[in-house]
Amino acid sequence: MFKPTLAIVVPCYNEEEVLPETIRCLRELREQLIEEQLISSKSALLFVDDGSRDDTWKIIYKASLRHPEVKGLKLAHNAGHQNALLAGLFAAKRHADCLISIDADLQDDVAAIREFVKKFREGYDIVYGVRRRRDVDTWFKRHTAQGFYRLMKAFGVDLVYNHADYRLMSRRAVDALEQFGEVNLFLRGIVPLLGFRSATVYYDRKERLAGKTKYPLKKMIAFALDGVTSFSVTPIRFISLVGFLSFVVSLMFGAYFLFLKWAGHTETGWTSLIMSIWLLGGLQLMALGLIGEYIGKIYKETKRRPRYIIDLDLWNWPLPQRLSPA
Ligand code: UDP
Ligand code: MG
Repeated sequence: MFKPTLAIVVPCYNEEEVLPETIRCLRELREQLIEEQLISSKSALLFVDDGSRDDTWKIIYKASLRHPEVKGLKLAHNAGHQNALLAGLFAAKRHADCLISIDADLQDDVAAIREFVKKFREGYDIVYGVRRRRDVDTWFKRHTAQGFYRLMKAFGVDLVYNHADYRLMSRRAVDALEQFGEVNLFLRGIVPLLGFRSATVYYDRKERLAGKTKYPLKKMIAFALDGVTSFSVTPIRFISLVGFLSFVVSLMFGAYFLFLKWAGHTETGWTSLIMSIWLLGGLQLMALGLIGEYIGKIYKETKRRPRYIIDLDLWNWPLPQRLSPA
């Protein structure tokens, strides 16, 4: 039976508290899978340091010296979760038949990896890990997340419900992903677009083992807004529609007030005047903001800046000793 080479890609940003345990846990799982003849012994773990300011890289580097299956990639600055993930996938793909992405905090049950690999061996190119329950997330996070999926669906973007970035991709799926040129890549929206055969594996989401979430509310909102505006122009159409409707309504009101004036009732008119000024002003600002959002996106894309800069890639360009950071 075919034993694929697996690469597990873990983006890490200031994860020194949890990383040693994560490395231990994933190494153990890798050993088990190799023993069960599910994956080849060339399978590896790639930890991507996304410009951490703590000892994350030191931990990765030391582990890579001690264990040959642990690989490290260090980005030169904090490129963000999605970009760190991409950097890892693109660096690892030439060494692997299939790649799994998982968060460093082990909130996603690593046992699902076994199921991912089984699905891959059955011929699926993409396997989505889907959270069965999210009771460990706060009420707020659960509901905002749900609202986000609903909104995206309403805007015509097909997301896999309750799937975060815990998934398996075949090497050719990652190759296909690499062809998407946009600088601002929203993985959860793009991966279903690839069109490869996909399967779903359910798992339970746990508490973070240690450390704090790197997605505070501000980042969550930015992420959601990014998701919407990179995939859909529906919001802009909606705003145009609202603008059009309010224009029609104000015409009707105008006609009504003119009629009143002509009939001799003098309207003081202050209330309606101030209301319409505020209403229209608000609408216009909203529309401008939204248009600005899209223009900002175009601006970012036209600059064609690199998504990430690699500082050290211990897998593909082994380090000269003098550069070793320990
Ligand atoms: N992460 C990253 N770069 C960032 C922010 C986060 O690589 O700028 C990593 C982080 O180390 C973790 C994963 O992305 O492995 C998910 O972050 P987190 O667990 O904080 O998000 P949450 O699970 O709370 O949504
Ligand atoms: Mg997490």
